[in-house]
Amino acid sequence: MLIFFSQHITPLSDQYVSDFEVKQFHNFIEWQNERIKPSAFVVVGSDADYVTSIIGSIRRDDHYFASLCFSTETANDINNQLSDGLLPEPENLKHVIAHFTDLETSFKHTDGPLSYLDRLIKYLWVRPDFVLQPCYEWQQARSYCYPLLDALSLGELEAFGWLRNLENRKILESAVLVDRQMECKFCSASHLAYIDVCPNCHSKDINLQASLHCFTCGHVDVQEKFIQTGSLVCPNCHTQLRHIGSDYDRPIENHRCQSCNNAFIDGEVVSRCAVCRKEMSPNDLVSNRIYSWKLSNRGRVIAVRGMSADLSASFDHIDFISEEIFTFNLDWFLIMSRRYSNIHFSLLGIYFANLTELSEVVGHTKLFRILEAFSQRLRGLLRNTDLTTRTTENTIWLLLPNTDEPGLERVHERVEENLQLLLEDSDKALDYRFVSAASTQIPKEENADLLLARLYGQLR
Ligand SMILES: [Zn+2]
Ligand SMILES: [Zn+2]
Ligand SMILES: [Zn+2]
Repeated sequence: MLIFFSQHITPLSDQYVSDFEVKQFHNFIEWQNERIKPSAFVVVGSDADYVTSIIGSIRRDDHYFASLCFSTETANDINNQLSDGLLPEPENLKHVIAHFTDLETSFKHTDGPLSYLDRLIKYLWVRPDFVLQPCYEWQQARSYCYPLLDALSLGELEAFGWLRNLENRKILESAVLVDRQMECKFCSASHLAYIDVCPNCHSKDINLQASLHCFTCGHVDVQEKFIQTGSLVCPNCHTQLRHIGSDYDRPIENHRCQSCNNAFIDGEVVSRCAVCRKEMSPNDLVSNRIYSWKLSNRGRVIAVRGMSADLSASFDHIDFISEEIFTFNLDWFLIMSRRYSNIHFSLLGIYFANLTELSEVVGHTKLFRILEAFSQRLRGLLRNTDLTTRTTENTIWLLLPNTDEPGLERVHERVEENLQLLLEDSDKALDYRFVSAASTQIPKEENADLLLARLYGQLR
């Protein structure tokens, strides 16, 4: 069902009417009374305020915030960021809706109301290529806003603070550096004025003043005081000054404070915040980088596995540990195996090369079920002393203590046997690759980071 919003009754293009079920509303409240489930919303017309009010209401809706939402005319930056762009042609629209529905089905729905974070993850999950853009608005205290974050958090969360939190939790990752700006250390506003003041008493009442310096007595004063009946005479020792460089010169201290009479070369610069009116040294300003953002691999895992996958960083079947702990343990094993000849271990990497393509063919939901089945089998193969981690969405590492080269060979074979059983009913194959190293094969100078990087390079 396509839900059209239009200020006036507009004749809809026959193409859409014949290909889709279509219903037309004047405003959001009118739709809310019926709350007909949309496969996509369409906002008709170019009236920016109208478009903003409809799209804004949709993005704030408790249930349909993530729905596809198109406009019929090119929109301003903010509406663009909140919508899915221009309404595609009917044929294309069918594909877009089908892809969207597939992704929506694979999203892990939690019981109870969605948190703001759930909303954001869902929104980004159903739009795999979406980039969260900052919009420049000079009226904003920080010059930039993230309209989507404001809408999804119903205006409750401050966007920059929320982004910092999401970055720390590795749910979002930065895409492109859009701008860099200095901000007030008190209120974070970016509207700053700069003024130079007396470095001695901080008065703003300073003047640029031409001064002269008498070489005979060393007196320094403003130029006017040296001018007497058309010639230059020192007001202190009354010597006539004829030649610059030999009788007198111009001191480089050419500013003078009207409050304390201090002469100085350059004033001290202070920054004044236009929002909170506080003054601070430019050195105390805070540098802020404005990025665009996208959902991280971890964010995608949360989308299909639910938040519990994030909290424990573990899966139901494979107990993944964090990459940091894995690397720490790997370094420890490297040291031990180099020190004691009876200590062996092996490292095995599994890389799935075509998950993205495959998900488009077999569907996200099915693919994740397959991978889940695989991880269940893998867990069955592993001993509880084996350590596992995921460095990217499609790369798994196994650290197998007390496993020498022949032992590694056996693990490798068994993992591969289990992988071959997967996707048997599909004509599209899962492209997986292995890389491995037994402790005896690792060069002496390699630490865990270098080793993982080298092996990862061989996988790709
Ligand atoms: Zn002063
Ligand atoms: Zn003099
Ligand atoms: Zn301020």
